[in-house]
Order: sequence, then C-alpha cells, then structure tokens
Amino acid sequence: MEKNHIEIKNLSIRLSDKPILTDVTLEIAQGEFIAILGPNGAGKSTLLKLLLGLLTPTSGSISLLGKKPTKGNNEIGYAPQHRVLETDLALRACDVVGFGLDGNKWGFGLPNKKRTEKIKKALSEVDMERYSATPVGRLSGGEQQRLLIAQALITDPRILLLDEPLSNLDINHSNEIVSLLVSLSKDRGVTILLVSHDINPLLPFVDRVIFMANGKSAIGVPDEVITTKTLSTLYATDVEVIRAKNRIFVVGAEL
Ligand code: ADP
Ligand code: MG
Repeated sequence: MEKNHIEIKNLSIRLSDKPILTDVTLEIAQGEFIAILGPNGAGKSTLLKLLLGLLTPTSGSISLLGKKPTKGNNEIGYAPQHRVLETDLALRACDVVGFGLDGNKWGFGLPNKKRTEKIKKALSEVDMERYSATPVGRLSGGEQQRLLIAQALITDPRILLLDEPLSNLDINHSNEIVSLLVSLSKDRGVTILLVSHDINPLLPFVDRVIFMANGKSAIGVPDEVITTKTLSTLYATDVEVIRAKNRIFVVGAEL
C-alpha cells in the first residue's frame, strides 16, 4: 500500500472575493472510497476543480500522487457535474467515451485497435456496450451520466473524481455504479472521491465522508461526521441527524 494519494494542507480559495473554502486540511490514502457531501454551493465542485488544477488555491497546498495538480493528467479520471452532456448530440456514445483518452484534445496517440478495445471495456464497465453506436442525443440523462463515468475510467486512472455521478440514475444503475466503484477501490486500489446529494445509497460502502458547509469541512467515518453535534457546528444552526431503518436523515438543513 502506497502512502497518501491526496494531501491537502491549509487550503483556502476565494472566488470573486467570496471565501468558498477556508483552511481545509486532509489526507487520503490509496484505495479509499470517499463521499463528499454538503448543501448546494458548499464548494464541493470547487474542491474537485482545485484537485484537477482547473482552479488555483488562494493559499495552502495540494499534492496528488506526490505532485501538484496539473491539467490533463492521465492518472486522474474526472466526471464533471452535468445534467446532460455538453457535446454534439450527434456524436456516438463510443466517440464520447474515447475523448477520455485524448485529454480533451482530438489526439490520435493510440493505435485504432487498442483504442477500440479500451472504449469497449469502459462501456461494458458501466453496462452501456449495446449503446456504443447510438447518438448521445438519444440517450437518457442516466445513460449519459454512465457515459461520463466510462470516459473517466478509460485511462485506468489511479484517482477518480466524480461530481454527482449518481444524480440521474435509477436505483439499479446507481447500485451497479457503486459496486463498480467499490471493486475499483478495493481490488485495484483506485482512490475515489465522489460528490453526492444522497448519502444513503453510499453509506454502507464508503470508507469516510467529507462534509462541507459554510466554507468549513469535516472528514471522518460516517458515524463520526454525520452526527447532530458535528453537523450543527458545521451549519452553525440546530441540525438533527435521525437514523431509521438503516437510513440517515438530516433534519433542519439542506443537504
Ligand atoms: P457545490 O458544488 O457544493 O454546489 P460549488 O463548488 O459549485 O458548490 O460552488 C461553491 C460556491 O462558489 C457557490 O457559492 C458558487 O456560486 C461559487 N462559485 C463557483 N464558481 C465561481 C466563480 N467562478 N466565481 C465566483 N463564485 C463562484
Ligand atoms: Mg457542485
């Protein structure tokens, strides 16, 4: 087992002079599966963009696999937060997944056969092989979401950053994606950070959660972090965490 895959020290960022994240420090080991939770506007997507080198911290430092974040790093897979794909809707599903190999450029580095094999494998991992030649405009929101995950997986990344990948999925596909992610983290040692609105489908599977609210964050196992005490402190208001039938409900604040 390698040492930490991600190290964040005293990280702060202001956007348009508004503090978004303040003094975040955390360490994430290889193969951890982590959910990033918190209300809209808490800075969850901002944190992923900082890890990708798409935004620069105002202060503090970030290290991924021992290096500073850089754009277009094949060792990091990313599925951005999207309702629908922002691409030419006439493109075939296989083409969209193949973009994951190009670092957003129209590169042709790989021999065609190898490229086709990788695309096929990534499509089958998200149960989308049969839609390979379908124009993406004809796919549902959930199917498009699965394509974005396939695109993030295609380079066999060591770190996966997924921004609300479960939001458009029905419960069966959500469960399938979660079990795929569990096996990637546990069997292949991929480190996974997943932003989610709903903790419940993930709760039995994640190692730890990062809860963000009001520019602050807390990290730990779910039982430590998702408590009335911790969340009331984070939200700076009275929040109650209720557990019923193996589910968690946060009352008094938006999640
Ligand atoms: P989340 O993903 O948790 O919903 P975001 O990280 O997208 O939240 O956004 C956090 C906050 O930062 C929001 O208040 C948002 O309006 C603000 N924000 C995001 N991007 C910018 C930007 N480029 N300039 C100014 N404010 C921004
Ligand atoms: Mg977001």
